[in-house]
Amino acid sequence: MGSFLNVVILRLPREESLVHPPSRCPHCGHPIRGYDNIPIVSYLFLLGKCRDCGGRISVRYPLIEAVTAMLATALYLKGGITPASGVFFLFCAAMVVVFWIDYYHMIIPDVISLNGLAIGVIVSTVQWIPGMTWSISLLGALTGALILYVPAVIYEKVRGAEGLGLGDVKLLAMMGSFLGPVGVVFVLFFSSLTGCLAALIGLLRGAHSATPIPFGPFLTGSAVLYVFVGSDVIDYAAELSFRFWAMFVTTAGCPISLPL
Ligand SMILES: [Zn+2]
Repeated sequence: MGSFLNVVILRLPREESLVHPPSRCPHCGHPIRGYDNIPIVSYLFLLGKCRDCGGRISVRYPLIEAVTAMLATALYLKGGITPASGVFFLFCAAMVVVFWIDYYHMIIPDVISLNGLAIGVIVSTVQWIPGMTWSISLLGALTGALILYVPAVIYEKVRGAEGLGLGDVKLLAMMGSFLGPVGVVFVLFFSSLTGCLAALIGLLRGAHSATPIPFGPFLTGSAVLYVFVGSDVIDYAAELSFRFWAMFVTTAGCPISLPL
């Protein structure tokens, strides 16, 4: 699966077929032999070089294979083999693909975001994701679309230039169809936080403030984070805010008894 994701990341932006031709060396074009195409192992065995021309093969290939394997293992350990684990594996795989395509090309393919949105609604309708129904899924998609579309329109009106691509809007709508509205808020919060940090680092290192950066990697990273620890983080935040308000109420001597 990780090897296939590598092919998708390479060929989808070029609008090439995902199945033909078989993998080739990017330098000499020689087809890669079956025994040289074993995920991770072949890269290590060949020391990251083509057997035919000795050209360097990007470390991105074994990296994505390893990340995909780790995501699958983590989902298995978290929930065993269930329809939900399968759904979230496909979701995480889509996140890996979007992360790299947006990183390299600054585009988020509609074929992933829009088809993903439809799949999210379908798997929620058949209740393969615990706690999700078709209505929560649609509400999540709508929240995801509007929460980015409105600021994108306002920015464009005020600054007269595109500040946020529609690809990001469609991507967050797709995430909402799998994760629901709470997931959308979580993803927006963490992607904005990490995106701002990255932008700040860029500015400190002398980048121009109008330099565009892809937002997809931050959105996809946050979505994967939500899949694994989202409910824990939200429980913890709820606990913290409750303590804060309880402290506030006690300090103010307010005679309100909280209904808990
Ligand atoms: Zn070669």
